Parts: sequence; structure tokens; C-alpha cells
Amino acid sequence: MGGVIGISNNSDAAGMAQAGLLSLQHRGQESFGLAVYDDKNKNFGLYRTSGLVMTSLAELDARRFGGKYAVGHVRYPTSGKKTGLLDAQPFVFDTWRGEVSIALSGNIINKEPILKQMRRRGAILQHSSETELIVHLLAQQKGPLLPALNKTLKQIEGGFAAVMLAGPALLAFRDPHGIRPLVLGKAGGAYIVASESSAIEVMGGKYLRDIEPAEILLIENGKLTSSFYTKPKARQNCIFEQVYLSRPDTVIRGRSVSTARMEMGRLLAKQMKDIKADIVVPVPDSGLFAALGFAKESGLPFEMGLVRNHYMGRSFIKSAQAVRDMVVKLKLLPIADIVRGRRIVLIDDSLVRGTTSRKLIKVLRFCGAKEVHFAVTSPPIVAPCFYGINTPSKKELIACTHTHAQILKELGADSVNFITIKNAAKACGGREGPGGYCQSCFTGRYIYKISKATLESR
Ligand code: SF4
Repeated sequence: MGGVIGISNNSDAAGMAQAGLLSLQHRGQESFGLAVYDDKNKNFGLYRTSGLVMTSLAELDARRFGGKYAVGHVRYPTSGKKTGLLDAQPFVFDTWRGEVSIALSGNIINKEPILKQMRRRGAILQHSSETELIVHLLAQQKGPLLPALNKTLKQIEGGFAAVMLAGPALLAFRDPHGIRPLVLGKAGGAYIVASESSAIEVMGGKYLRDIEPAEILLIENGKLTSSFYTKPKARQNCIFEQVYLSRPDTVIRGRSVSTARMEMGRLLAKQMKDIKADIVVPVPDSGLFAALGFAKESGLPFEMGLVRNHYMGRSFIKSAQAVRDMVVKLKLLPIADIVRGRRIVLIDDSLVRGTTSRKLIKVLRFCGAKEVHFAVTSPPIVAPCFYGINTPSKKELIACTHTHAQILKELGADSVNFITIKNAAKACGGREGPGGYCQSCFTGRYIYKISKATLESR
């Protein structure tokens, strides 16, 4: 996961970057950073730290970064051995082209053989994330920057979206299937690139368009140039952006995430038309819009039977199981007066390990719920993601290791219902598979061939 932003040509690029990073905080909470290029002094100012953007605002203000160009990143580690500051992005490298700063969201799946070859040739790598790899490959290319980046990106495969500053030149690029999102916007004379359209609005800008799969944008001297490093492949956007990850006010492929979620709920209600229930209860926050859609379609009342403690962060995004368990306990609180004696349709966005769902169903029953019908707005996740979302290994995925009847028993629900792959894609305004949305984690069939060693490592 993770989120990126890039800003070109604004005298307060650092201030804009801070606002942008704050609005992307939900995409990664382990660390964040920004690199600001000062074209008067011809150098980068770099700030990277662990934790949340909000807690560092005073320090960032005190640093008074000068410069009109910035890249920024919020990190959730989906790959890389280490966590913490060492792999916090952006990175700044001193290359024969001058200083280059880069931030990437996603995963490069063929990084291991490339890294192995580099190490054999004597390269000394500082970071465990794949982001460094791109700059190494770029530094090995001769000639002008853009053709060199073309050659570099042709060598890598995966789901990624990245921003890079080569001095004042801002580059932004995306994988050939457009798995990970990246959008372009403008605020006055400044161009902005971000993982989500909502971040552009927070930075005072206007969303212009999505950056296309395989597209490279070069923004230099106020001029924007678009080119493609390879032929774009059939679009396969990550549907988890709509299901869970993106903000509800973000727009993806012309449809807001909140609309897509409501439609998921509506289609799920159609699938579940035979279930008898009294109320629809969302698991806040990402289940809210889906529950509204479900309630509208089914005619059942929407009730806030669970409330969220907003100071606890997102449990899915925390790295360790022990931390996740603690967060689940403190994060969602039942309202006994609402759930007592009721037959509940409980709407959640996904079923991963089953940790949260099992506890929620148990607590709802403890508070007197008569029946709990669990309804999920993503299809069963049966395989890990290698394109930038931190789904766990097969052995931890409940839908992979358990039959439907076993899931029902494990969760303690009266029924367990998943949206179909077709309906999930339809709700997002597309279709499943090539030309629409990625479905690898729902089918175990991957867009790119995943090596046996990588598969076995998960
Ligand atoms: S495998 Fe699943 S989580 Fe990963 S990119 Fe595809 S849809 Fe998204």
C-alpha cells in the first residue's frame, strides 16, 4: 500500500506536500516523508520519520523547506525486510545525473533476480524496498533522462505508481496495467500528482485526469509532456481501492468511491434477497456506504449498531497480529440498545483473517443480537496480493483455508454472504479481469507470472 504525491512549481511546495500527505494518511501510517528541491541552491531538503504526519507538523514548519518542487510518501510496508525509518520514503540518491528523489507505492514482482544480479556486480544497496532498484537501474543508463527511464521501466514488472524528482524535473509513472492508482491535477500554475484525487483537492487543486497505464509524465519548466514507456496492457485496476483503501470522496474511473461502495451494498442486497432481517448495521468506516446501499435496496432500516473510536487507526493496516488484536478490541464498540433482539445484516468490506469479524459477531450476540447475517462487499480472498496490498499468506486467509460451512462456524454467524466478482466490478463501473479490475486475490490467477519462490514465500 502507501501513497505518493508530487508537486511542481509552487513556492510553498513543502506546505502543499504536508496537506497532501495528511489526506493520504489512511494509505499508510508506519512512516512518511517529503523531499523538496530548492532550485536556487540546487539541492534537496529531506524529511523522513516514523508515525503520523499530524504529529510532525510543528517540526516540519520549523524546518522551513524552501523550493518549488516536492515529492512525498506515506508508507505501509508491503515488502522489504525492515520496518521503520530506514525504508521510509522518499529516497534521495546522488547519481551521475545529479540528485534524484523517488517515492513509490506498490510492488515490483521481479525485483529479486534484478537485485541478485546487481549485488553480484558489486552494488551496495541501502534499503530493502524496491524503490531503490529503479534509481539503480536508471543510473546505469546513459543518455537523456526520459529515454533512460523508458529503458529502466521496461525491465520491471508489477503493480506500482511512482513520483520522481530529477532536480526540478517531476516525473510520474504507472505500471502497464494501471494496477496502482495515480492521478494528475493542477492548482494555479502548479501541477500535482497523487495516489488519490481527494489529495489534489485538499492541496487546493483540481483533478484533471488519471495517469494512464504505462504512461510517463514529465513536468519541467511549467510544461507537461506525456509518453509511454511500453504499450499499455489491458487495464486491471486494483478493486481494493474502492472496497477498502481509498477515501470515499476519491474519484476512480469517473465514479466516486462512496458511490461504488453504495452500489456494492445494493447489489449485495439483491444477492441476499431471501435473508430475513430487521436492521442493516455497517462495520464503520468502510462499511458505511455499502450499508446505506444495502438498506435502500432491501428496505431495511440502517442503524449504527457499532461505533468507532476514531483515535485507534485501521486494524488491517497495522503490521503485527498482537497490535491488530488490541486495536480491534478498542476500536469498535457495540450499541446494545440498537442490536438487542434484532436480526442483523452486518456489512463489512472484506474478510481476510476473520479476526475482526469473529470478535464483532461475538460482541453483537453478547449484546443480545438475535441473528447476525454477515455480508461482505468483496469476494472471498483466497490468494495473497503481490501488487501492493498487504493481504497475508494463503495459510492466514480464512477463505483459502476454510470451506464456506467452516467459515460460518468459525465466525459464529447465521449466514455468510460475499458479493460476486462480477457484481463488485460492476459496482465500480467496470468488469472483472482484463479491461476492468484485477481479481487475482479472488481467483489465485495472477496478471504477471509469480515465481515459485515468491509464491512459496507467502
Ligand atoms: S490482487 Fe487483489 S489486492 Fe492485489 S491488486 Fe489485485 S485486486 Fe488489488
